Amino acid sequence: MMEERTIIIGGGVVGLSIALQLSEKHIGGEIYLVGKYRIPHDHQQSVANSGVNHAGIYYSRSSQPLMAELSVRGNFLLHRFCLDYGVRYSDGGKIIVGMGEQDRPYLEEVIRTATENNVEDVCWIGTKEIKEKEPNAHGEFGLWVPSSGVIDPMHYVTLLRELVRSKGVEIVENSEVVEITPKESSVEVSLRSQRTNTEFTRVINAAGLYADQIWYNLHPDWDNENPDLPLHITPHRGESAIFYFREGTDLTIQRNIYPTPYGYDPLTGKIQKIPFDDYRRRLEEGTLRKFVGVHLTPVMDLDGRISGASIGPLKSIPDDGNKDDFCGVHPVKDFKDAVREIFPSIDSANVQLYHAGNMAVLPRNRDWFIQHDPIHQRIIHLIGISSPGLTASLAIGEYVSNVISQL
Ligand SMILES: Cc1cc2nc3c(=O)[nH]c(=O)nc-3n(C[C@H](O)[C@H](O)[C@H](O)COP(=O)(O)OP(=O)(O)OC[C@H]3O[C@@H](n4cnc5c(N)ncnc54)[C@H](O)[C@@H]3O)c2cc1C
Repeated sequence: MMEERTIIIGGGVVGLSIALQLSEKHIGGEIYLVGKYRIPHDHQQSVANSGVNHAGIYYSRSSQPLMAELSVRGNFLLHRFCLDYGVRYSDGGKIIVGMGEQDRPYLEEVIRTATENNVEDVCWIGTKEIKEKEPNAHGEFGLWVPSSGVIDPMHYVTLLRELVRSKGVEIVENSEVVEITPKESSVEVSLRSQRTNTEFTRVINAAGLYADQIWYNLHPDWDNENPDLPLHITPHRGESAIFYFREGTDLTIQRNIYPTPYGYDPLTGKIQKIPFDDYRRRLEEGTLRKFVGVHLTPVMDLDGRISGASIGPLKSIPDDGNKDDFCGVHPVKDFKDAVREIFPSIDSANVQLYHAGNMAVLPRNRDWFIQHDPIHQRIIHLIGISSPGLTASLAIGEYVSNVISQL
């Protein structure tokens, strides 16, 4: 019989966290991790994101159970990991501001979801407390979310990679998995960079934006047989801008500043500021995508000091669903316009474009798909790991290792 050998496809925070868990718990035999590019690389979701360690207050246990459970657990694990390994982290919390009565039911839903998810320290605050926490922010009322934080995602991925390697995982970079072929007692994996194929006893598909491609290669007729469960990933681009603090001015932030979480149109990326009942209806119809909103987030320098603030993400949908199209379409003015209401001083900031990343989104606000392949039990798929995948990464690793060890 073949010795146990596991291959993880994808060198983002999800693949790396799974590799970390499996190697630490000695599950899966020899572990290999393959990344199409070097790890980290600028455009992968795990780097081109807002860096927010979310508290787990936007995802409902009934409709998005994995997001709900793993973001709360992940928030705790990520914070602890950053403390243990010295990853740049700021634990200033976050405020979500409301501007008028139309915003109130949206925030009521956030606090309801927080309670449902056992995040019990979220509370209402008024204008005065908003100003005390963030003098440049503006809101008539709002929520205070203490357990939210910010990490430096590039630092996190770099450190995870080193840690995983030190645990004995073989990391293969600049190499793409082009095909996987299940056999009776193994799975054959073809890499673009190698002439020969290699066999593994277990395959973990954590290929981010391309995880659906691996799935559909195995199940070309899936959509005909399962019309209610399409697993196609659409890239939703998120663009960010940044301003750096200048000495002698008080134009700074110390914590995340978020607006009321209106949804956006998944076809155009435009935010839809509509009454809450219409929002609920359009979510049900699938014509609206949940969104945390265009926010301001602290950015740290190499010493871990907060030295600027990012603004984003502004949404846009790449032409023809091109997953590798990272060209932003928004000028600086759009970023200022997007946050002027919650952060009026933005007009005096020197804002410049920052980065763009494409998020792996499943249709109809679906929960993450983390499951064994229905036919080939040696394969586990992780499809549509959109936000808050950075927050949840370590919890996802833990979840997958539990699934494997329970077999
Ligand atoms: C703009 C934006 C803002 C975000 N903000 C936040 C936030 O503030 N907080 C939060 O928690 N989450 C956030 N997210 C979500 C979070 O970044 C993702 O959920 C998470 O990074 C997903 O990690 P991943 O490992 O699945 O994907 P990736 O980082 O994309 O990694 C997948 C890797 O697989 C590789 N790959 C693909 N196909 C193959 C193949 N065939 N062979 C080998 N390798 C392959 C890719 O090159 C890639 O490097 C944001 C995402 C975006 C885009």
